[in-house]
Amino acid sequence: MKPIVAIVGRPNVGKSTLFNKLIGERLSIVKDVPGVTRDRLYRDVEWSGKEFTLVDTGGLEPKTQDFIMSKIKDQAQVAIDEADVVVFLVDGKYGITGLDEEVAAVLRKKDKKVIVAVNKIDNYIKNQDRIYEFFGLGFEEVIGISGEHKVNLGDLLDAIIGKF
Ligand code: GDP
Ligand code: MG
Repeated sequence: MKPIVAIVGRPNVGKSTLFNKLIGERLSIVKDVPGVTRDRLYRDVEWSGKEFTLVDTGGLEPKTQDFIMSKIKDQAQVAIDEADVVVFLVDGKYGITGLDEEVAAVLRKKDKKVIVAVNKIDNYIKNQDRIYEFFGLGFEEVIGISGEHKVNLGDLLDAIIGKF
């Protein structure tokens, strides 16, 4: 079986955008329709001769804060349990939020390989310093990327396959 790599993170950090860029097609819906639940999406990816199955764990645009919390926890739990590597996606334009902390707490409890990908670093030269606060989430590997603008996705893929 191929290794499973899950993209986990609070809503709107750019999980589906990143998923679509990495699989090279537009499968996952960017900006979820409010209240619409979807299953997790799986696609096989090959990079440097290594294959893995990528999972977009999003699919819900929750309405209340409590609902967000419980949903993210559920989503993260299931994804984390089945994953060999977790790409923990956060928003570099916004900074660390309480929801990021919640996801981090779930991830820390499991003994999984985690890469923190700081998304929306659209201009890497100018804004790479935004990644540093995310070391505060407590994981060793932190990479600045932009899913939308395809910044550093090669580095992210190298980091992913380096963990198999
Ligand atoms: P998800 O809820 O985590 O799946 O997030 P989406 O992929 O649906 O993206 C949420 C919003 O963030 C959308 O408006 C995207 O266009 C935007 N977005 C995603 N990636 C980037 C990025 O690299 N840079 C910027 N500036 N916006 C992004
Ligand atoms: Mg999504």
